Amino acid sequence: MSILNSKIPEGSISEKWSNHKANIKVVSPANKRKLEVIVIGTGLAGASAAASLSELGYNVKAFCYQDSPRRAHSIAAQGGINAAKNYQNDNDSVYRLFYDTIKGGDYRSREANVHRLAEVSPNIIDQCVAQGVPFAREYGGLLSNRSFGGVLVSRTFYARGQTGQQLLLGAYSALNRQIAEGGVKMYTRHEMIDLVTIDGKARGIIARDMVTGEIKRFGAHAVVIASGGYGNVFFLSTNAMGCNASASWVCYKKGAFFANPCYVQIHPTCIPVHGSQQSKLTLMSESLRNDGRVWAPKKAEDAEKLRKGIIGPNDIADEDRDFYLERRYPSYGNLVPRDVVPVARRQTINNLSDGVIVIDMVDRIVDVNLAFGRIINADRDLLIGNQFKRFSHLFLTDRPELSSESEFLTETTIRTNGGVRYFEVKYSPVTNNKNQLIGRIFLLHDISIRKKALDAAFESNALLRNEIAEKEKLITDLDAYARTVAHDLKNPISGVIGLTDFIKEDIQNQEEGKAIKLLDLLNEQGYKMLKIVDELLMLSRIRKEDFNPVEVDMYLIVNEAIKRLNLLAEERNATIVLPEKWPVVFGHSQWIEEVWVNLLSNAIKYGGDPPKIVMGSEDLKDGRFRFWIQDNGKGLPSESFEKLFTDFERLGKNNVEGHGLGLSITKRIIEKLGGQVFVSSENSPGKGCIFSFILKG
Ligand SMILES: Cc1cc2nc3c(=O)[nH]c(=O)nc-3n(C[C@H](O)[C@H](O)[C@H](O)COP(=O)(O)OP(=O)(O)OC[C@H]3O[C@@H](n4cnc5c(N)ncnc54)[C@H](O)[C@@H]3O)c2cc1C
Repeated sequence: MSILNSKIPEGSISEKWSNHKANIKVVSPANKRKLEVIVIGTGLAGASAAASLSELGYNVKAFCYQDSPRRAHSIAAQGGINAAKNYQNDNDSVYRLFYDTIKGGDYRSREANVHRLAEVSPNIIDQCVAQGVPFAREYGGLLSNRSFGGVLVSRTFYARGQTGQQLLLGAYSALNRQIAEGGVKMYTRHEMIDLVTIDGKARGIIARDMVTGEIKRFGAHAVVIASGGYGNVFFLSTNAMGCNASASWVCYKKGAFFANPCYVQIHPTCIPVHGSQQSKLTLMSESLRNDGRVWAPKKAEDAEKLRKGIIGPNDIADEDRDFYLERRYPSYGNLVPRDVVPVARRQTINNLSDGVIVIDMVDRIVDVNLAFGRIINADRDLLIGNQFKRFSHLFLTDRPELSSESEFLTETTIRTNGGVRYFEVKYSPVTNNKNQLIGRIFLLHDISIRKKALDAAFESNALLRNEIAEKEKLITDLDAYARTVAHDLKNPISGVIGLTDFIKEDIQNQEEGKAIKLLDLLNEQGYKMLKIVDELLMLSRIRKEDFNPVEVDMYLIVNEAIKRLNLLAEERNATIVLPEKWPVVFGHSQWIEEVWVNLLSNAIKYGGDPPKIVMGSEDLKDGRFRFWIQDNGKGLPSESFEKLFTDFERLGKNNVEGHGLGLSITKRIIEKLGGQVFVSSENSPGKGCIFSFILKG
């Protein structure tokens, strides 16, 4: 197994490198001229290494894949460069810079190397100044400093927001001087594609001439790799897409160890990709954090108005701003280390119960908060960078056109492990300060509680409406009852009164035989009144009684109903034709028997002479069955159908007795059982009527 030897010098941290440098073997100037060094990369690291090595007297071959060293990605650095010069007299020291850097690197950096960086930092500034880097200066001419994230002292040397560019111009001019001197041979547009090793030592490279495509070999006594970081390993990066670590990779393949990937950087002040012409994040100088205060609106309404441009940031009062860095880190405030800022911001967004998803102009998901991942049951990290259309169906049925600049609000239902949840989906376009569309944002707000309360309110409203309708019907019914029952009871009661007078007379005249006949008539009138009272009681029972539908045997029910009407059927010489089989349905046996008794007695009473009645059923193939009964009477005109079940109308006013409650009871019962009642008739003598009702099977 190979063991990594990072060759850190011995001794205490503060002395490791100075001891090492003091004891290192030096090469004589005469020998330096005989040695060749290849430097891969001409960014800040490579250009200064190549220039310095050449100045020392070595022969240098420098390589970069861009068309000029000036195009190295170091040009993007903005904020500044730290040095423990203590110009501000704020107690800065080499140790403090060392400590802050170790801490800022999450305690992962090699301590000895970081200490050396802190030790040489003042010299680097001097060297840069000597190279002509135009660092910012105070009015009196002294170099100026700004504060920077993770640091409580002011030690950052800067050149506006272009420190990297200015430093690179300095390094580049030093390099150019050496190129002109002949110490450095510059190979631009050359990409290192392999490393040549001899006895385990790097002795040369293979490079591709990116203009001609020619593969060339270059030998040297040593190879310095200064090819920059693997920026594009991240979906979101401020590094150029060319920062692909290809040179490091070929060294790794030749046995170099992979260690300390310290090129991982967090830039909390990035502007997201906002167009198809932009492939990466753009950095706003982090120096913005120095004197400014980072905040987000506390109220969603304010954020909304800001986004729409209705108000500006200055319209939001201090008390309505969440200075989340100051709130969370009182001692560092806005100057917390850069990796802490996005974490704090992310936590602020993640603590939102609303789901947030941001997509760019090429329909890519650029940000998602935890709540959103939870809502659609997807891993937030897997969503980022994916095409939005792969996931939009999970929460949207209709999605806006990519070009749509208008907002919309819709509601959606999402099935989760905990059941169904209801969300309000709000879409807003995201625009830049020129009002150009740069992306879209969706906000998912859980409205389950509101929706359920509304549904419950709708439901109870519907119940209330039904109850009112029922009550209105009841009032109409009662009115009709009063009329009908009064009318129907009036006849037998008048009959009873008349009969009692006659009976009294017959008794006085001692005509016993006559009196007994009249008493029979009196008895008949009594039965009539009893029947009316029974039916009234039945009607009120159906309205009030609750029931559980059970399987009922229609065969038994129909037989029982026929039995009850045997006398009437015999009297009228009626024929009843029954089907061979009845289906099984759900209902209430006693009530359904009452329905058949009513329909059958009507069929016998209003059927032909003699009545011929046919009964049957039909499977409606949707879980329901229709039952019907047809007579051979005169039939009914269609305009009377409506009134039959409601108005307590007599079926035949003159020729047949009846008080009209039967069909009303029938309708009540069938509706209570969840079914429907119908009547049809051709209104043609002999063809009669067909009364039918539907029940669930
Ligand atoms: C947006 C941004 C802002 C930053 N701000 C700051 C800041 O304020 N302060 C700070 O200290 N740091 C900052 N940094 C970090 C700093 O800029 C970098 O760490 C530093 O510039 C890296 O320099 P480099 O020379 O190692 O790499 P680079 O500048 O990336 O140079 C790499 C070189 O290697 C060459 N190369 C790569 N592969 C090959 C190959 N296969 N063959 C041939 N040549 C190859 C390239 O052509 C290039 O010349 C920032 C970085 C970014 C991206």
